[in-house]
Amino acid sequence: MPPSPARSSRTTDWTPPRRPDCSCPEHHDDLAELVLPVTEPGDPPTTLPDLVAANTLGVLPAEPRDRWLEVHDESDSGPSRLGPFHWGLWLGDEARSCYDDDSERSLDQALLDRPGVDRVEWMEREEFLVGAPTLCASGLLAAMARALADPRVRAAGRPAA
Ligand SMILES: [Zn+2]
Repeated sequence: MPPSPARSSRTTDWTPPRRPDCSCPEHHDDLAELVLPVTEPGDPPTTLPDLVAANTLGVLPAEPRDRWLEVHDESDSGPSRLGPFHWGLWLGDEARSCYDDDSERSLDQALLDRPGVDRVEWMEREEFLVGAPTLCASGLLAAMARALADPRVRAAGRPAA
């Protein structure tokens, strides 16, 4: 019989995976040519290397205190927890022109569509927490670039009647 895997908690033992031990379908350097359209007509499109070089987009392992979020729902029976989250991702205001707030698909939903991304919490305007234990930082940048490249994050929702 194969030995049973150690009963370790991923939330305390998790260390950010590195290439090639990650599960990322692609990495940020694979997407150097990917064009990220913007919503403003006439503005030039941007690229993933542009965003990273300007520090508009970045990824760091989540702070231990951000691993789990306490959610207080007054209508429910006490606080519940959201998580675990592994990565903190920021997307500066300079990238605001890459997506629309009232689009058909929100940016956090588009990121959640990417393989390996288990959960996304849009914390503040520029800050996301991402549960993605098997992605490395580079792979998460690639996932965010794919989300920004998704035309649905710019497409208007159903027109008002
Ligand atoms: Zn990776």
